[in-house]
Amino acid sequence: MLTELKPFLRLDRLPHIWCPGCGNGLVMAGIIRAIKRAGLNQDEVVIVSGIGCSARASGYLDFNTVHTTHGRALTFATGIKLAKPHLSVFVLMGDGDALAIGGNHFIHAARRNLDLNVIIFNNQIYGMTGGQASPMTPATSKATTAPYGQLEQPFDTVELAKGAGATFVARSTAYHTQLTAKFIAEGIKHKGFAVTEVITQCPVAFGRRNGMGNPADMLKWQKERALNIDVAKNLGVKPEGKFLIGILHQEERPELGELIASQKARWQKGDN
Ligand code: SF4
Ligand code: MG
Repeated sequence: MLTELKPFLRLDRLPHIWCPGCGNGLVMAGIIRAIKRAGLNQDEVVIVSGIGCSARASGYLDFNTVHTTHGRALTFATGIKLAKPHLSVFVLMGDGDALAIGGNHFIHAARRNLDLNVIIFNNQIYGMTGGQASPMTPATSKATTAPYGQLEQPFDTVELAKGAGATFVARSTAYHTQLTAKFIAEGIKHKGFAVTEVITQCPVAFGRRNGMGNPADMLKWQKERALNIDVAKNLGVKPEGKFLIGILHQEERPELGELIASQKARWQKGDN
């Protein structure tokens, strides 16, 4: 496996700083496989990350990389893509980064439909800063800021992205690493704002506090709770306690970069 991933890794930066059993490496491997599968030129790939444990991935990947500020990865990515539309731009964010601090940027980026590949590492908590509740912490789960259990409902990332206008939305888990690669690769092919949420385990800040066992137990939880959309269609109902994985939404809508280019061409011809 390492041989397959090696050409895309900054080996001089390893070993990584993630905790033993953290799911971030599995998600990162899925991203590499997707880029490889899509046949992208390594020099034309840009990885933009925000702040958080998962954001460290940009430092371990051998592409053009930018480790930016908390909640603002999408703004940097938007500027890069508008300035250099031929580049394939990937935006790596945690759940707090994408949906709390960067929540406003997220909905507006989705609305604009710029051709970006967004991957949200959803570990359901703020891991790096010690386990504060994020907008993805499930109700009743414990966090340092919710020691008796979270009282608020989390977002449903898929519904939020769809509602805000994202034209490709998928969900996977760290356990389903091959499916993660497949969905991200489909998102790369899609012309528009593509979001893949990956539910991943944080054994240290979330798992331990919530009695989820060791990292293997948390992967088993992901395997058992995930329901593939194709299976769900045959069942006709979504059984209680399950969440859907798969490509959950896709639509064609004019992409912002193309709209800007055609408006510019009309303007240059004097045809407004
Ligand atoms: Fe992973 Fe959690 Fe450790 Fe962060 S705190 S590296 S998310 S296990
Ligand atoms: Mg998080």
